[in-house]
Formats: sequence, C-alpha cells, structure tokens
Amino acid sequence: GQAKHSAAGYTLYSGNPDKEFSRRLALMGELRGAIAKNELRLYCQPKVDFESRHICGAEALVRWQHPRLGMLSTGEFIKLAEHGGLITPLTHWVLEAAFRQSYAWDEAGIRLPLSVNLSAHDLRDPRLIDRIRGLFATWGIRPELIQFELTESVLMQDPEGAVDMLTRLKALGVQLFVDDFGTGYSSLAYLQKLPVDSLKIDQSFVSDMLANEDSAIIVQSTIDLGHNLGLEVVAEGVETEAVWQRLASLGCDTAQGYFISKPIPADAFGEWEQQSAWHPQG
Ligand code: C2E
Ligand code: MG
Ligand code: MG
Ligand code: MG
Repeated sequence: GQAKHSAAGYTLYSGNPDKEFSRRLALMGELRGAIAKNELRLYCQPKVDFESRHICGAEALVRWQHPRLGMLSTGEFIKLAEHGGLITPLTHWVLEAAFRQSYAWDEAGIRLPLSVNLSAHDLRDPRLIDRIRGLFATWGIRPELIQFELTESVLMQDPEGAVDMLTRLKALGVQLFVDDFGTGYSSLAYLQKLPVDSLKIDQSFVSDMLANEDSAIIVQSTIDLGHNLGLEVVAEGVETEAVWQRLASLGCDTAQGYFISKPIPADAFGEWEQQSAWHPQG
C-alpha cells in the first residue's frame, strides 16, 4: 500500500505487505487496550449554515492519542477497529463522550447539535437503540441535540436492515445524515424510502469541484436531488473560500471543512465557538 504518515510523522503503513500485516495486527491489539487506557479523544468539527453564516452544529470525530505514534485520526484506525471486532466498544466510547460533551455545552449555554458517526456493525447491533435511549435518559439531553451519520455504502450493504434501524433511530427524535453521499450507488427509489433528514456530499466531489467539471455536476445534482426529496444538503471537505462561494451559489445548505475549521479537541470547542467569526455575535 501507499505510505501513510501519522501526525507524529511515523510511517503507519510501510510498502511491505508482510510488515504491514504484522504492524496492523500489533496496532489492533493496542487499540483494544487503548479504550481501557483512556487513549481515545473526542474532537468536534463545526458545521456552518450558508445563509446565516453561523455555526449550526458539529460532528464528533474520534482520535487515538497513541503513546508512540502520536495523534491518529479515525481514518487511520477505523478499518482496524472494524476488522478487529472493536467497533462496539469504540461506538460505546464515542457515544458516552458525545453525550457528556453535549451536556457540558448545554450547561455552558451552547445549544449545538452534535452528530455521531455509526458504522455497519452498529446497524446490526440489536442493543444500540436501548443504549442510546439510556444515554438520553441519563444525561437529560433533548433529542434535537444528538444526530447520527451513516455512510451511503454502509446503508447499501443491507438496505432493508438499514431502513429498519433508521426508523428506530428516528423514533428517538434524532436527525439522521447520509454520509459520504455519491460514493455508495444508492437508487432514487431506495433513497426515498430512507427516513433521513440530510445528505452529506462526499468530500472527494467537493474538494475538486472547481477543477473538475464532472465533480461540479455531481455536487450540483446532489444538491438538487436532496432538495427535491425535502432533505438538507451538507458539503463536507470545504477547504477554500472559492469552494464555499460556489456551493453557496448552488444553494447548498451547510458546509463543513478546513475553510471553517479543522476538528477541534472537544473541551476546547466551546471557547473556539464563542470567539469564532462564525459565531452569531462574532
Ligand atoms: P466522515 O464522517 O466523512 O468525516 C469527515 C472526515 O474528513 C474526517 O476525517 C475529517 O477530519 C475530515 N475532514 C473534514 N474537513 C476536511 C477538509 O476540509 N479537508 C479534508 N481533506 N478532510 C477533511 P477523520 O476524522 O479521519 O474520519 C474519517 C472517517 O472515519 C469519517 O469520515 C467517519 O466515516 C469515520 N469516523 C470518524 N469518527 C468516527 C466515529 O466516532 N465512529 C465511527 N464509526 N466512524 C468514525
Ligand atoms: Mg461523518
Ligand atoms: Mg462524511
Ligand atoms: Mg467523508
């Protein structure tokens, strides 16, 4: 595979398949312990409304503060978690952290919905709904303040099971996003059946929409499709003002990306939000 570097600059994946395999196996073993050793960190990335230019929510993104490799982003270890059967404990950790964060924001007068990513394994977990319901009860958080994101390809793995699970999530009163939209080949008929509120256009289309006409067409079509289905449309991976402007002119509802902010440690997010140019009083 391609060499990939963590924040600390260590090579996570060497070009050597055997080495790579044993590295991954070791890392998987460490990930199992990382949860117990409190090495996971919650980061939050803001979402901004195009019309008001105000922060309208945040996405919860988990990080692993690895003792030797430094801060690993989810993209670097989520596959390991999936293959190692570690998604359930990881999701439990993220849910706990997200509810705790949401409670802390509420106490601080910050009323922002926080969205949590769920993976394929979560959709098959029969106890997930009860766990989430329990967290709402424990923390006394209103359902509007927690949202869930599921990738289009995860939903397409088991379309009927997904509709069933999403319906039960919706019954809790939460908002649902189809994540990485445009990469999962869902049909229009299927999309219409999904009880979701928003589409998140995959960042691969957004990031090169100014350079690549095909990507621009996909972005525009997704915005129109979403609106025709009564859904909000979020663009992820908005890195520049030029992309922001183009998306605004296409009628996109919400933006997320480095142009606004990189993911921020959850405990520093409140301070960032208050001082941000995207804050209502900023
Ligand atoms: P995602 O849900 O589509 O999240 C967006 C990813 O894009 C994040 O990477 C974020 O840091 C990155 N990103 C945001 N804005 C920009 C930008 O402007 N440019 C670029 N190049 N990247 C940007 P991250 O945190 O590495 O997460 C990767 C994926 O891992 C996520 O994609 C999501 O599918 C999954 N993931 C993240 N956190 C969790 C989690 O707590 N549970 C589960 N099951 N999956 C998670
Ligand atoms: Mg997401
Ligand atoms: Mg996404
Ligand atoms: Mg994505």
